[in-house]
Amino acid sequence: MKPNFIRKIANWGNFPVVEKEVRSMDSLSRIREFIKNNNEVIARGNGRCYGDAALGEHIFSTIRLNKFISFDRLNGIIECESGVLLSEILEICVPQGYFLFVTPGTKFITLGGAIAADVHGKNHHSEGCFSESVLEFSLLNENGEVITCSRTENSEKFWATVGGMGLTGIILSAKFKLKNIETAYIRQEIIKAENIDEIFRLFDESESWTYNVAWIDCLQKGKNLGRSVMMRGEHAFRHQLPPKLQENPLRLKEKSTPSVPFYLPGFILNNITVKFFNFLYFNHHRKNKVADYVNYETFFYPLDIVNDWNRMYGKNGFIQYQFVIPKENGKEGLKKILETIADSGNGSFLAVLKLFGKNNPEAYNSFPIEGYTLALDFKVNPKLKKLVSRLDEIVEDYGGRIYLAKDSMSKSSLTDYLKNVQNPKFVSLQHKRIISNS
Ligand SMILES: Cc1cc2nc3c(=O)[nH]c(=O)nc-3n(C[C@H](O)[C@H](O)[C@H](O)COP(=O)(O)OP(=O)(O)OC[C@H]3O[C@@H](n4cnc5c(N)ncnc54)[C@H](O)[C@@H]3O)c2cc1C
Repeated sequence: MKPNFIRKIANWGNFPVVEKEVRSMDSLSRIREFIKNNNEVIARGNGRCYGDAALGEHIFSTIRLNKFISFDRLNGIIECESGVLLSEILEICVPQGYFLFVTPGTKFITLGGAIAADVHGKNHHSEGCFSESVLEFSLLNENGEVITCSRTENSEKFWATVGGMGLTGIILSAKFKLKNIETAYIRQEIIKAENIDEIFRLFDESESWTYNVAWIDCLQKGKNLGRSVMMRGEHAFRHQLPPKLQENPLRLKEKSTPSVPFYLPGFILNNITVKFFNFLYFNHHRKNKVADYVNYETFFYPLDIVNDWNRMYGKNGFIQYQFVIPKENGKEGLKKILETIADSGNGSFLAVLKLFGKNNPEAYNSFPIEGYTLALDFKVNPKLKKLVSRLDEIVEDYGGRIYLAKDSMSKSSLTDYLKNVQNPKFVSLQHKRIISNS
């Protein structure tokens, strides 16, 4: 009989699925013992990375490191254990007039996962990555020591861990800054772009907005290649809100989250349904430009509205392919990628385009570099590997790189920026795959 801590496990894309040891504990002495007794340990937060990054031979789940340590309400500084979810932090800080400096497109990730992937949001061009807000964290290293890492103390470990995908040890807790907000609402503008030239012009014009993102229809070709919808936003001030919303401007949205109750049959998502969805999405707003006020949940986390939406892709799962191409080559590279995808017939149900600003050179393991980044979902199918290899070649030709938090198939040379210590204690399946392919 298998020991009960060996179980089938996958990350958000449900690909790959592996059978590995998964342990979770909150006592430091037991965590130390687990590390001492095993090699190839990897930390796992909430498994919201898409590929194989949070999987390894011996997985330490931080799910029980879930306590808040302190909240300095005057200065907006919060400290919690690494398994606390961003959603839990928001529930505490929004009613107090604070928000995260940087948030990804889901709030169901842990603080440890946010630091280890150095996540970015819709404001990379204006506010950088998550690490910009991190003051310090405690790290359990390969020797079982707990060290404090900040910009001034163990700074080498601080920068290796930020974006280091768990390869430097286990982040136990962290202290980070929040930003002031007057309301829980975003003043947003939604603007349609008929093609790639228009959407690039819109990104240039919108650089002064704090948040920018575009949904892109990957099945369009010819003069409509790059047809998209841009959403840009700012935190709303109280006086800007309609009178009814001014009454309780920091109120949290009521929770009602439907679920996808089981894996849908894989054939439901196909080129025809994706085309139909894209048509509805693009034509949802009749006007070319719409301005309104929406709750932060609607603006930042539209996908979180449906629990377990990843089951929509069926049991074989899906991958998310996210790359960045330097700004100077951005349009040409993106055109080539969009043409390749449209010709391949692999429709991407979700495709999100952002413009990254300058990177922080100290955070050398972080994914973003100045340029255009596109994230695409593809259902796993027998032809996918070939498409990914072709996309990898194009990204490489244009001097780009791919995002480790999403990857499970890409070429190792596109992940060279993870110049980490080769540490036999902390190794993920992703890391092993990358090393063996290089
Ligand atoms: C719907 C959706 C939207 C997303 N949007 C974005 C986006 O806009 N921007 C973006 O940057 N990312 C985005 N992501 C990816 C996601 O934010 C990252 O993969 C994040 O790291 C997941 O955090 P997690 O807690 O689930 O960590 P996991 O997925 O469990 O782990 C991710 C990595 O962090 C490491 N790790 C986790 N916890 C610790 C710890 N305590 N100590 C050391 N290492 C640790 C793991 O080893 C692994 O390498 C999105 C994901 C989803 C599902």
